[in-house]
Amino acid sequence: MTRQGNIKISSENMMPIIKKWLYSEKDIFLREIVANAADAITKLKKLVSMGEAKDEGAYRITVTSDPKAGTLTVEDNGIGMTEEEVEKYITQIAFSGAADFLEKYEKAGGEGIIGHFGLGFYSAYMVSDDIEIFTKSYREDAPAVRWESDGESVYTIESCEKEGRGTKIVMHLSKEEKQFLKEERLRELLGKYCSFMPYEIYLNPKGKDDRPVNTPFPLYAKQPKDCTEEEYKKFYRETFSDFNEPLFWIHLNMEYPFRLKGILYFPKVRKQVELERGHVKLYCNQVYIADNIKEVIPEFLMLLNGVIDCPDIPLNVSRSFLQNDAQVQKIAKHITKKVADKLTELFKKDRERFEACWDDLATFIKFGCIKDDSFAEKVKDVVIFKNLAGEYRPLTGMFRAEEAEEGKQPDTVYYVTDENKQAQYIRMFKDAGLDALVCDTYIDPHFLSYVEYKNPGKVRFLRIDADVAGALKEEESGDDTLAAVFKEALKEKNVEVKTEKLKNPEIPAVINADEQMRRMSEMNAFYRMGEIPVALTLVVNTANPAVMAVKEATGEAQSSAAEYLYLLALMNFRPLTPDELTAFTAAAGRYLEDSLKKVQ
Ligand code: ADP
Repeated sequence: MTRQGNIKISSENMMPIIKKWLYSEKDIFLREIVANAADAITKLKKLVSMGEAKDEGAYRITVTSDPKAGTLTVEDNGIGMTEEEVEKYITQIAFSGAADFLEKYEKAGGEGIIGHFGLGFYSAYMVSDDIEIFTKSYREDAPAVRWESDGESVYTIESCEKEGRGTKIVMHLSKEEKQFLKEERLRELLGKYCSFMPYEIYLNPKGKDDRPVNTPFPLYAKQPKDCTEEEYKKFYRETFSDFNEPLFWIHLNMEYPFRLKGILYFPKVRKQVELERGHVKLYCNQVYIADNIKEVIPEFLMLLNGVIDCPDIPLNVSRSFLQNDAQVQKIAKHITKKVADKLTELFKKDRERFEACWDDLATFIKFGCIKDDSFAEKVKDVVIFKNLAGEYRPLTGMFRAEEAEEGKQPDTVYYVTDENKQAQYIRMFKDAGLDALVCDTYIDPHFLSYVEYKNPGKVRFLRIDADVAGALKEEESGDDTLAAVFKEALKEKNVEVKTEKLKNPEIPAVINADEQMRRMSEMNAFYRMGEIPVALTLVVNTANPAVMAVKEATGEAQSSAAEYLYLLALMNFRPLTPDELTAFTAAAGRYLEDSLKKVQ
């Protein structure tokens, strides 16, 4: 007997809306239909385990495209439906579920719902003009049923012939959607959405050599103790198509207080490139939801590659809801903690390996600290920097841990940003037995500012050329007469003058650049707001014989020698301008001539 009915819950014109709203992401229909098929198998297995249904084994889902007929078919051998169940689940529940989803979707402004999960069966109407369902319940006395509807408002239901238990969904694709008949396209979509679905999925099966397109028992769903290193690496290669080996990984596996499984990999990154975006794929019961959902996974963790399966995340809600959901926050915190634990464990147990990986980890850890205080608190002691001898040292060990006493200056830690450009300063520091840390990731300036901000009164960082006088002077040793000579000679130049007896007698003078101004200038340049000039000071070294000779000289000879020493210092600080270079070369020529004449 054939019956007709009206799909009459809520609006009749839902289909046009579904088609319009979800236009850009309509390929999720395949995930929804295949996920339903997987659910149907899970339900049957449950009944089997309770002894309420017969186990016929070989559970599978088959996806078949028929270009001639223009149909795409998804078939499962799961629980199936009786006529009443089709009425109830498809005509009523599925429809109202989709209507409910669309209402939330509209409220969320049309794009807020994570992965569009929950649209369900009716999402197939985004791509179909008509859908038929053939289904046979596991109940042995129930006849098979055929349901059909164009999705607008009328449906037909009748009994039919069907071999075997389960459900077959036949989608008559609309003209514009014939792409979903192409095997390559289907393979791509099944790869994206269904890779880890728990039952074998076959695409256009041809014979006994067929292989499923998915991995029904993905590594992440196993117990960590059952996984080998080789398996972790293979899973990484296959899931992220990255043929560089990952550095190491974290296998998450917990049941309580929420369910969470997954593997996070630390990828090898090329140093100094812009933060490369990683890939953290979110799954729900082995069904793909979306990539890089920042509401669930803290932003800095997205630099990692990983899969996270979390059935407890409410997915049929808007992103802004997720952001404020206590459960989701707990999950994010847990993941962050596990990552921090892994890093500190490696640091403690295998320092050598940790250091070997540091170049790949540095940006991630520093970025994570800036972004997330609780992460910073956990990993702060494993942040290491190279010193001038090229050895790694923990940053927190370089300055005092306790609050500074009243009136006491914070510890000064010097740093280098360019070992070539700052070579002279480095040499002076080394000669004087001083050290500095080497910054070589572009995030370092931000990171050091962050550390200062978090440790008020304990530490200040100065670039190696910021306060040479402070670092290297012997004693209070100014020479006012000498200072006046240089000031007079350099009055046209934009430079302050200071005299000091430095520990390195062989260097006549060095340039100091004000730290705070330089940082501001760099910040401006970073945000493309134009650089601002930085105040420079010439530190004249009274321990140097040439300097003292300048003091003794007079007139033109004195002022040009002072300028010469200034240019000499300047070229160790930055490249000279063409005019400066011309002046320097001319002066060098004169001095050479004079000194050769003297020898003759
Ligand atoms: P949801 O899966 O979120 O419940 P759907 O609209 O996808 O919503 O499906 C509605 C209901 O229809 C399902 O809950 C299930 O009871 C039934 N159903 C859908 N597909 C199948 C299937 N392949 N086999 C058995 N039942 C199904």
